[in-house]
Amino acid sequence: MADPLERYYRILNGKERARYMSLQATRSDFRPEQKEDDLWSTHEREIRETLGRPQSREEEKGVSGMEARNLLDLKSELAHRMLGHCYICEWKCGVDRTGGRKGRCGVLDARISSEFLHYGEEPPLIPSHTIFFSGCNFKCAFCQNYDISTNPSGGSCISPERLAEIIARRFDATAGSGTQARSTSNRVKAANVNWVGGDPTPNLAYIVDVLRHLRTNIPQIWNSNMYMTERSMDLLDGIVDVYLTDFKYGNDFCAERLSGVKEYGRIVTRNHERAARNSELIVRHLVLPSHVDCCSIPVMDWLAEHLPNALVNVMDQYRPMHRAFEHDDVCRDLKREEYLEVKNHAEDLGLHLVD
Ligand code: SF4
Repeated sequence: MADPLERYYRILNGKERARYMSLQATRSDFRPEQKEDDLWSTHEREIRETLGRPQSREEEKGVSGMEARNLLDLKSELAHRMLGHCYICEWKCGVDRTGGRKGRCGVLDARISSEFLHYGEEPPLIPSHTIFFSGCNFKCAFCQNYDISTNPSGGSCISPERLAEIIARRFDATAGSGTQARSTSNRVKAANVNWVGGDPTPNLAYIVDVLRHLRTNIPQIWNSNMYMTERSMDLLDGIVDVYLTDFKYGNDFCAERLSGVKEYGRIVTRNHERAARNSELIVRHLVLPSHVDCCSIPVMDWLAEHLPNALVNVMDQYRPMHRAFEHDDVCRDLKREEYLEVKNHAEDLGLHLVD
C-alpha cells in the first residue's frame, strides 16, 4: 500500500510545493464586483482545471511565483462573502459577522490563543507549528481545551501579514541576520502549519488571508471536527495538504447530547470522504468512557468500509474535564480495557494505525 502521507513527505523533502502555493501561482479571472453565485461558478471552473493539473505540468507551463490576482485571492473573496451571512459551518447561522453579529460559535475577528512548536502530535507531524484559535462551533461537555474553545474573545488579534511572518520564521530556523541569526541558529524548524482551536473552521477567511501573505513551502494541516459546509470544503480544496480530523461519535444521539450538534454522522462522514478524495488524511478518534459500543466500534467499522487507506490514531488520553461531571457516562477516566478493545478491533479490521 502507498504511504498515506506520501505527498506530505514530498513537500517536506522539497520535491513538491505545498498546495496553497499552486493557487498563488495560478491566475484567476474573477472580478470583485461579481455576485457571490457568479464567484462560485468561477471558482468551480478554475479550481477544477488547477487541481487536475500535476505540478510537473505547471513547471512546463512556467507556472510559479505569484500571480497578481490569483486563485487564493478568489478563495479569500468568497470566504469573506460567506462571513456576510455566515454559512462557514453546518450551523449555517446566517448572521453578518462582518457587521459584528455573532453566531453560535461566538467568533468575530480571528483571535489566537497561542502558537508554538508542538511535540505531542502524531510522529510524522512533529514538530508542528500549532496555531490555536479561540472559540468553537461545538460545545463538547468533555472538551479537553475548554479554556480556549469556550472563550471566543480570548487571545490576541494578529494581522494576517504578521502571522505569515511568524510562520515563515518558525519554518526557517536560521532566519534573521547578525546577532539575530546567531540567537536563532539552534532553533528547530517547523514541519508544518497546524490550524487548530477550538476549531479553525470559523476562522477560514482569516486563514486564507494569512496564506495570501505566506511564501514558504510548508504543508498545511487542517486540524478540525469536520463540521464545515460543503462550500467551506470547496474553499479548502487546493489549500489543505493533510486533514487531521477528530472523528468523535458513531451516532447522532451521542453527538447531540455531548457536543450539542445535529446531524453529526451525515455531515462528518461526508466531509471525511471528501477530505480523503482531495488531500491526505489522519483520523483521530478519542475513545470516550462508556462509548465503546455506541461510538468507537461504529467509527472504526465505518473507516474500514469507507476509508481503509487512512491513517488512524486511536487515542487513550481522555480525562474528565469541563462539564464532563454532569454526565454519568463520561465523568470518569477511560479504562485500559476500553481502549484496548477499540484498538484491537481497529487492528482486526486492518486499519492503518499511527504508531
Ligand atoms: S462559523 Fe458556524 S457557528 Fe460560527 S457563525 Fe458561522 S455558521 Fe454559525
